[in-house]
Amino acid sequence: MFIVSACLAGYRCRYDGEIKPDPEIVALVKSGQAVPVCPEMAGGLPCPRVPSERTADGERVLATDGKDVTDAFFSGAEETLRIARLYGCDHAILKARSPSCGLGMIYDGTFTGTLRTGNGVTTDLLLKSGITVEAKD
Ligand code: SF4
Repeated sequence: MFIVSACLAGYRCRYDGEIKPDPEIVALVKSGQAVPVCPEMAGGLPCPRVPSERTADGERVLATDGKDVTDAFFSGAEETLRIARLYGCDHAILKARSPSCGLGMIYDGTFTGTLRTGNGVTTDLLLKSGITVEAKD
């Protein structure tokens, strides 16, 4: 069973309120092979919301308006892990470059469109918990 970023499954959960379904992920959900979760909304953030980036040290997540949203991001990661375990998901397919869902490359916290190596908060927790993570654009 897969756990997948809900935005890839066509949920309206992106920070900008846009819908961008990925046909392969939608098909996985339709066939009962994937569970969609949005970690940021699971952590209590609204849609749309002010965009955020993980700081360079990875310790905090800040929104462009200066608000510290670290707690929401980390509790959303925990909630995503809980759901993954509930459904027996051992594989995740998550949205590339997101401060929650990114794998390998994320924005660097300067809000300049610059990428750095690193993972989103949820990706880090899933990997640490033994779940395989794959990124999708
Ligand atoms: Fe939610 Fe992750 Fe998609 Fe962002 S990338 S909208 S946190 S599912």
